[in-house]
Amino acid sequence: MSVLVRSGLGLLCAVARGAIPSIWRGKYFSSGNEPAENPVTPMLRHLIYKIKSTGPITVAEYMKEVLTNPAKGYYVYRDMLGEKGDFITSPEISQIFGELLGIWFISEWMATGKSTAFQLVELGPGRGTLVGDILRVFTQLGSVLKNCDISVHLVEVSQKLSEIQALTLTEEKVPLERNAGSPVYMKGVTKSGIPVSWYRDLQDVPKGYSFYLAHEFFDVLPVHKFQKTPQGWREVFVDIDPQVSDKLRFVLAPSATPAEAFIQHDETRDHVEVCPDAGVIIEELSERIALTGGAALVADYGHDGTRTDTFRGFCGHKLHDVLIAPGTADLTADVDFSYLRRMAQGKVASVGPIKQHTFLKNMGIDVRLKRLQGGRHQRNARQSKPFASLVAGFSELAWQ
Ligand code: SAH
Repeated sequence: MSVLVRSGLGLLCAVARGAIPSIWRGKYFSSGNEPAENPVTPMLRHLIYKIKSTGPITVAEYMKEVLTNPAKGYYVYRDMLGEKGDFITSPEISQIFGELLGIWFISEWMATGKSTAFQLVELGPGRGTLVGDILRVFTQLGSVLKNCDISVHLVEVSQKLSEIQALTLTEEKVPLERNAGSPVYMKGVTKSGIPVSWYRDLQDVPKGYSFYLAHEFFDVLPVHKFQKTPQGWREVFVDIDPQVSDKLRFVLAPSATPAEAFIQHDETRDHVEVCPDAGVIIEELSERIALTGGAALVADYGHDGTRTDTFRGFCGHKLHDVLIAPGTADLTADVDFSYLRRMAQGKVASVGPIKQHTFLKNMGIDVRLKRLQGGRHQRNARQSKPFASLVAGFSELAWQ
């Protein structure tokens, strides 16, 4: 079976270090090849109703509604990861990815003075596989971390995925505490005895010395799209196609819109995507790290302020027209790491981005692979049990 791997290309480490005018003239364009069919999903009905009542919506609002609308959002009630889903991510392919990140966190903890406690905070943890792999490394290196109080904090909007995360991490041996109305909507204890809490918003995670992780999280945050025209920057909106019933199309705003403020004055591209939500989150992370210490690792596919039109959809591991059958496909846009760096500037030091391949090589992935192959325990698409004793890239490890 062939799968599409949404593997990270860029990697950034931040270390402790309006009013929209209502005249929409004839500038419109479709979202790609004309598809064979255009099923009217509940989300499409919702969007058509919304656009009919208040006018065309920005691409950012479209993404936000489609992905995280609390009633019908793509992420809210389904498990889209893995071979049977719409896309697959590095931790779902191999345990090695999480193990090497686990080592990275421990080495940062050592380099920054071995604090007596730290929080491991993950944004958008998917099925909980990555944090599970990281925690396994923490257990294996228990002798190094023995005097450190560790807690896990997961920021997740998806009810379905938070249930899968709970199953992955706790095996529900200890009954989970649930309180849908509270900012901490679920609490439990991991298999290795570490307390774990769930939040919908980073703001609700307690402040304190923390290591933050965001893997394929920033790419699902809503982007505003802009095109350069002879009249200046014009934002791309989503509207109803007047020619075809129940069909959406892109249109250009007739005049300037507020999100234009996020475009750099010296911008030379003729099409840009800006993600204000990413800026807000990076500012929050930077302030927290500057205040209480720690580090953040952002891994995603992205660019350094060079790419133009990257907004796309994935369904069943295939590219999917973003305006067709909304709510049934993942929507994503490449992360602009140059913007993330700018938002962290002056508060914390930032390193990268570097290619994920280079990062993993530097962290000793080749050694780890050889060990796994030698032990004939290499896991493909995570079918067998983890090979418990070997971790590459950490010389102090006592090999069992
Ligand atoms: N990190 C995981 C999953 C990536 S998919 C992996 O690499 O396998 C994106 C994840 O972010 C999902 O868990 C999704 O539910 C979550 N998510 C999407 N938008 C979010 C938001 N606004 N706030 C918190 N989590 C969000």
